[in-house]
Amino acid sequence: MENIIDVKNLTVKYFTDEGTVHAVNDISFEINRGETLGLVGETGAGKTTTALSLLRLLQSPPGEIVDGDIVFDKDHILTLSEDQMRLVRGGKISMIFQDPMTSLNPVLTIGDQIAEVIQIHMNCGGAEARIEGEEMLERVGIPKERYDEYPHQFSGGMKQRVVIAIALACKPSLLIADEPTTALDVTIQAQVIEMMKDLQKQINTAMLLITHDLGVVADSCDHVAIMYAGEIIESGSLEDIFDNPCHPYTNGLFGSIPSLDKDVKKLSPITGDVADPTHLPTGCHFHPRCKYAEPVCKNKRPMVTSINDTHQVKCLIYESLLQTREVVKYV
Ligand code: SF4
Repeated sequence: MENIIDVKNLTVKYFTDEGTVHAVNDISFEINRGETLGLVGETGAGKTTTALSLLRLLQSPPGEIVDGDIVFDKDHILTLSEDQMRLVRGGKISMIFQDPMTSLNPVLTIGDQIAEVIQIHMNCGGAEARIEGEEMLERVGIPKERYDEYPHQFSGGMKQRVVIAIALACKPSLLIADEPTTALDVTIQAQVIEMMKDLQKQINTAMLLITHDLGVVADSCDHVAIMYAGEIIESGSLEDIFDNPCHPYTNGLFGSIPSLDKDVKKLSPITGDVADPTHLPTGCHFHPRCKYAEPVCKNKRPMVTSINDTHQVKCLIYESLLQTREVVKYV
């Protein structure tokens, strides 16, 4: 299948007075048209910096993309002019930000906010934009009669639907959704995720779904990449990651959530703190928290090891097991 975005060796740093923050460290991934990649990890893993880099929205200084390439629909994003980028943002790549409740302008009607995007990117007049905007509103389950109302007249779940309507109004090829349901209660979360999946199918939009919620990933993603300390430490199809998680960190994430299927008396959270990105540990960045760490893990950087055609992991255990061809599940 053809990919819509191909990220290679992306490296992002923040140069601050307190030191250099190694936010994203040499990550590569791609997303096929119409498919969803879940980018999973704890707060501070580099997920949002990755998303902002794809749209070149990093605040600079202090943020800087110091290496890598981002190819979106054959365009090299890092070489486009600002004018070209303005056409990409919102038109070809849309983003739902982490806090959708504050993404809406309180002094404009929601209709005006949807229509504004349509007018800019689809080059049409006010009347045409209104028709498109009303249709988009209905698609996200809000009656078009509410087009002229203001954000404060909507509940949290409804505001979220409006934000999604704005993001999808121009039928983008790629939607970046950064923790889109975190601020919502659980029942509304499920509805919103279902709605996003439906719209994604209708429009054939690819999605980068950033989340720390493995339940949301299981429900919505085709592929999964697990991030730790700015690196992708494991990636694969949904089945690869959920049926055969290999990296000790991925196993730790699964061990931290309750299961309805297994009789687990006690959850086993990952001990220790997230790595400090200004002083990343030597060797494997996860070694201070890893219960399988060996002395070599403090000094040697793990390389990418392929478990199968779609499943890759960065861990010295798998590196040595595959060298000796003992491909077994270790943890
Ligand atoms: Fe743990 Fe070593 Fe593997 Fe890192 S390389 S995850 S420290 S076993």
